[in-house]
Amino acid sequence: MAHVPCGPYVPCFTLDDADVMVDAAFACPVCLRAGTRVEIEVAGNHPAGSGACRTCGATWALALEPRQLLRLSLDPPCKTLVLLGEPQPAPLVAGDLDEDRA
Ligand SMILES: [Zn+2]
Repeated sequence: MAHVPCGPYVPCFTLDDADVMVDAAFACPVCLRAGTRVEIEVAGNHPAGSGACRTCGATWALALEPRQLLRLSLDPPCKTLVLLGEPQPAPLVAGDLDEDRA
């Protein structure tokens, strides 16, 4: 697995771009294949994370604009596997319902 030392890569897409444009923006910088995996940390005003190619194994750093993060969280693209690092709400379990009724 090779790390691409290009500094934080800033993908080029806008909030209302079609899925194919967003997938293309996250294509691997080494082999240019789509279908990469990106992990984004949501903390702060400057979302950042990393990308990994599921074909050649290359990895790279990512920096996003807040609007790009909004696009990924509301409507993730078809081919790119997007993992957001924000904490998810705890699932509601049956015990919680019983406590509310007491
Ligand atoms: Zn690749």
